[in-house]
Amino acid sequence: MSDSGRSVVRAENPDGAGSFVIVCDHASNRIPAKFKSFEFADDALETHFAWDPGALAVARLMSATLDAPLLWPDVSRLVIDCNRAPEARSLIVTESEGRLVPANVGLSEGERSRRLELIHTPYHAAIDACLKRRQASGRATTLIAIHSFTPVYLGKSRPWQIGIVFGEDRRMADLFIGELKADPALSVGINEPYSPADQVYYTVERHAGPLGLPAAMIEIRNDEIGDDSGQQSWADRLARILVAAEPRLAGARHAAA
Ligand SMILES: [Zn+2]
Repeated sequence: MSDSGRSVVRAENPDGAGSFVIVCDHASNRIPAKFKSFEFADDALETHFAWDPGALAVARLMSATLDAPLLWPDVSRLVIDCNRAPEARSLIVTESEGRLVPANVGLSEGERSRRLELIHTPYHAAIDACLKRRQASGRATTLIAIHSFTPVYLGKSRPWQIGIVFGEDRRMADLFIGELKADPALSVGINEPYSPADQVYYTVERHAGPLGLPAAMIEIRNDEIGDDSGQQSWADRLARILVAAEPRLAGARHAAA
């Protein structure tokens, strides 16, 4: 199929029977041909400027281990950020970390709507359909979002190897934090380097909130997952925590019912 006719939403293991669903909003640095006016040097597209390096590889390994459906948009967040509300100013950035994004300056309403329709809307519809399908078949679900962050942002070093981002529902976050903090060698960010107040919790809030699903967003510092062994090691570690969390999440669900 031609690039113009193909959906940008990707799914792996969509009918996975495990109790987790994984999403990876910033999985891709691809800029489809129909958006080719971007004029970025390729080296810029390799950095966190365009995507979350390493995040998709970790998410895929976790999806395989946990038999979890995995969904992601195969488009760079420079085109449109799927982890932002449609009305958010940062939905389509005109600058990032002081670097201008000329292709997004002075964007028409029509082009903004086109990007929403081609990317943002179908991605969230796919997540919605997956979660509702599972709910209809009586399958318990916890939603996990995988991201990565840059070690230095606007000249400031970030000490955490991993951050857990969560809102009011702490069921999943507390289990992650408890397990990760048991390792004294690890610096764990609690709602760091971002928190829902930074408007970065859109996907999880939109989908887990209304369905009452336990959920958490994981931010891994990208130098931890820059190669195969780092990706495997973090995927194994996070999957182990999730497997151990399952009975406790089931207990919490039961108590809430
Ligand atoms: Zn991200």
